Amino acid sequence: MTDKSKRFPLSLSSLAEKSPRNGTRSEVGRTTSTTSGRVATPQTATLNASQHGKRPATPARVVDAPRKAGTTPVPADRPTPLASEAVRKAMVARVAKQGVKDSKVLAAMEAVQRHLFMEPALASQAYIDASLPIGYHQTISQPYIVARMIEVMRNNSNGGVLNHVLEIGTGCGYQAAVLSLVAKEVYSIERIKGLHELAKSNLRPMRVANIRLHYGDGMLGLPQAAPFDGIILAAAGLEVPQALLEQMTIGGRLVAPVGERHQVLQLIERVSKFEWKSSTLEDCHFVPLRPGTVT
Ligand code: SAH
Repeated sequence: MTDKSKRFPLSLSSLAEKSPRNGTRSEVGRTTSTTSGRVATPQTATLNASQHGKRPATPARVVDAPRKAGTTPVPADRPTPLASEAVRKAMVARVAKQGVKDSKVLAAMEAVQRHLFMEPALASQAYIDASLPIGYHQTISQPYIVARMIEVMRNNSNGGVLNHVLEIGTGCGYQAAVLSLVAKEVYSIERIKGLHELAKSNLRPMRVANIRLHYGDGMLGLPQAAPFDGIILAAAGLEVPQALLEQMTIGGRLVAPVGERHQVLQLIERVSKFEWKSSTLEDCHFVPLRPGTVT
């Protein structure tokens, strides 16, 4: 099932479209100016994240469930639907300029409303090319790297068809939502309970039928759903855990950041039952992969 409209019975964009259209000029102006105004870099975002600390599992945020027009005002720091669509298009154009060519990945990035995965206070920065804090000292990955990893995973010998995909590090659920548009089934594991709950509450109103969220240690993989023809790690370890290698299909592709201070994006392809081929793609910067769980 690759049809986007089937994936999102209430499509991600239609959800925002159903918000009351009572945004004022200043709200639109605020969105636009922040995009070109304050620029956060992955580094500043990581710093922000470390200062941001833990936040409540159920943040005080407006969930964009369908509601009667005119009953609930659009929060001042929430981009209006049209403004968010325009900045999302601009984000995708930037990602394409940075070298991502896969049109299916670019279309998925355009369909998912990244700002709905963030705290309202940060929503206006959602489309800049940076990782941003999501609480618990973690970050939502930068748009370019999300797109790049999925593009690499899709570049398989199966013409890009992905049946079972596993993501390690659900975070706020953004990348899982993008993955749900390019894979039949997406499994995503998060080790921090509060973030697992946050991803659930972010994704629930979007009614994505093909994402399964799990709370647990992703270093162990998900044997009950294996094998996977694609695995993405959203956190960097010193090496790729053996359990994940074992849970790949023959021909499957795993994309992971590897390293400590200096990290590189690694692609691992399973060639046969006992053989894996590894290649290094480019430098990157991710939060660390950690063992165990946090309640
Ligand atoms: N894909 C996410 C990125 C989140 S950042 C998004 O779109 O928002 C990486 C996440 O990996 C963090 O939430 C962190 O808690 C998680 N993580 C780190 N080690 C992990 C592990 N062993 N198992 C599962 N999740 C892990």
